[in-house]
Amino acid sequence: MIKTDILIIGAGPTGLFAVFEAGLLKMKCHLIDALPQPGGQCSELYPKKPIYDIPGFPEILADDLTKNLMEQCKQFEPGFTLGERADTLEKLEDGTFIVTTNKGTKHHAPIVAIAGGLGSFEPRKPIIHNISHYEDKGVEYMIKDPEVYRDKKVVIAGGGDSALDWSIYLSDIAKEVTLIHRRNEFRGALDSVDKVQELKDRGKINLVTPAEVVGILGPDEVTGVVVKQSEHIEKEFEIECDHFIPLFGLSPKLGPLAKWGLEIEKNAIKVNNALDYQTNIPGVFAIGDINTYPGKLKLILCGFHEATLMCQAAYQIINPGKRYVLKYTTVSGIDGFDGTRK
Ligand code: FAD
Repeated sequence: MIKTDILIIGAGPTGLFAVFEAGLLKMKCHLIDALPQPGGQCSELYPKKPIYDIPGFPEILADDLTKNLMEQCKQFEPGFTLGERADTLEKLEDGTFIVTTNKGTKHHAPIVAIAGGLGSFEPRKPIIHNISHYEDKGVEYMIKDPEVYRDKKVVIAGGGDSALDWSIYLSDIAKEVTLIHRRNEFRGALDSVDKVQELKDRGKINLVTPAEVVGILGPDEVTGVVVKQSEHIEKEFEIECDHFIPLFGLSPKLGPLAKWGLEIEKNAIKVNNALDYQTNIPGVFAIGDINTYPGKLKLILCGFHEATLMCQAAYQIINPGKRYVLKYTTVSGIDGFDGTRK
């Protein structure tokens, strides 16, 4: 059981900034995210795009904003459960909560802050009748730790940046990399397409197009895939492999959060914005893109503001009756949890 003060669902910009604001008030945070990396939409949807409306930064790449937020909050030593989706919320008799992920990891906290953005990013899965049987037994929809593929035979399917980039990366680690795409043209960055072609010419990547994986082989774990190729006449053949990784993109879904008993309006969680961004369940807050209230704007800077007010309210719940005096960081400095002062 992972214990913390504020359990944050979603490690996008709002969730990451909440860690910093909570840290200033000496509250510990733990974040859960369905994605294998922090940054939310910034890292998943537009890492290389410049953002122009972050106060104090005339221009900043979305990826760099995530790096800066990680740097800013690291002194408060947040915990992370990445690559897992928060599935259930249980309120205990003492008013605290247990949140369990789809992988069974349990988290216990007096405060839950939902910073879930558009919802959890769920992988688009290929239509192969027995695919669910092989999930986590050789079929993975996202790459959490590339080392898992060292000296293994890997088949990647997809035509976007993710499929291209991981094929390139794994060509140095895996024993064999095969990239399969249903068209001859790729959607990803031109540089990456050229690099894959170069690696194919050097015999480091097998490129199979236009083709798709139509079956998975193996008594229990994956031992191979069935590929249907359709250049001139359709033909089917098998490729031996240890891992099949379909990278067909991710689509956001409110998913399990919709069943937590929260008041939902147009796919977003209603909050009390006059006060503290608390939901209809006392102790559960919703901040950033996931919430709605009159006048709501889905902007990063609004998420930062909401995170700040949420932390003030959470402090009062965790420390009932304790008076809090707002201090400027310019005056107070920052005391990390290890006692170091900046
Ligand atoms: P998100 O960034 O969406 O992060 C939420 C995280 O929660 C996700 O990582 C998701 O996986 C996770 N999650 C959700 N549910 C669960 C669950 N059940 N379990 C585990 N994890 C879960 N905003 C600006 O201010 N300026 C801009 O210039 C700008 N440009 C944009 C350009 C594009 C192309 C896009 C798509 C958006 C842009 N935005 C911009 C919007 C901005 O990205 C969002 O406002 C911001 O990302 C919201 O942050 P968030 O932390 O609230 O949510």
